[in-house]
Amino acid sequence: MLGSFVHEVLEYLYQEDPKNRTQETVKKIATDRWSNHGWAEKVNELTEKIDTITGFKRNAFGAMINLWELEDPTTTTLEGQEVEVLTEVSGVVMKGYIDRIAFDVNGNVVISDYKTGKVPDSKYVAEDEKWFQLLAYALMLREVEQKTASTLELYYLSKKIKHSFVVTQEHLENTKQIIVTTRASVDESCDSGQFKCNVTKLCDWCHFKKINICPAHNQQF
Ligand code: SF4
Repeated sequence: MLGSFVHEVLEYLYQEDPKNRTQETVKKIATDRWSNHGWAEKVNELTEKIDTITGFKRNAFGAMINLWELEDPTTTTLEGQEVEVLTEVSGVVMKGYIDRIAFDVNGNVVISDYKTGKVPDSKYVAEDEKWFQLLAYALMLREVEQKTASTLELYYLSKKIKHSFVVTQEHLENTKQIIVTTRASVDESCDSGQFKCNVTKLCDWCHFKKINICPAHNQQF
C-alpha cells in the first residue's frame, strides 16, 4: 500500500514540467492524491494496519523525498511510466507494468523500478533473483517492440540506494528459460492436481496460512 502510494505520487511528479519537479510539488501532489483521490479512505480501511496513519504518511513522504538523493528530477527525462506490456515469450503469455522507461545516450532502453522495502541481503537473495522481474520486462520489451534494454535500475527509495545492472543476451536467454520451465511445471501440476508447497519465511505473510488452508501448515490435510 505504501509502495503504491509512493509510485502514484512520483508518476504524477514526472508528468509535471521539469522545472516544476520540486519537493514542494511532490508535497502538493501527495496531499492532493491523499485527500481527493481515495488514499485517505483506502489506508484507513486497511484491516491490518501495519503502521499509524501518521507513520504511513511520514514513511511515504520520506521515500518520495529521497528521490532527490538519487537523481535530479528536473534534469531526468523519462520515455514512459507505468507502461503496460503484454506479449508472448516462447508461447507463454506475459503481462506487466514497467514503472519507468528511459533511453541512454546510445538510444538503448533503461528500465527502472521503485522499491520502498528493504534492500535484499545478497547473502539470501541471488543477483539473478533480485533482477528477475526487470529482466522479464526487458525480455517482453524485446519481444513486443524489438527494443533492447541495456540497463536495469532498482531505486530503493526508503534507503536512498540505487542499484544498476547491465543486461546481456545471456541474461535474457536465461530468463526466458526460467519462464518456459516455470510455465511447464505449472501446466504439469494443473494436469496432475499436485501442487508442491514451497515453505519459506514468506509463509508468515501468506493469506493461505492465516486462514489455515495451507497443507504445509495444517495437519488435517
Ligand atoms: S503458507 Fe503455504 S501456500 Fe502460503 S506460501 Fe507458504 S507453503 Fe505456500
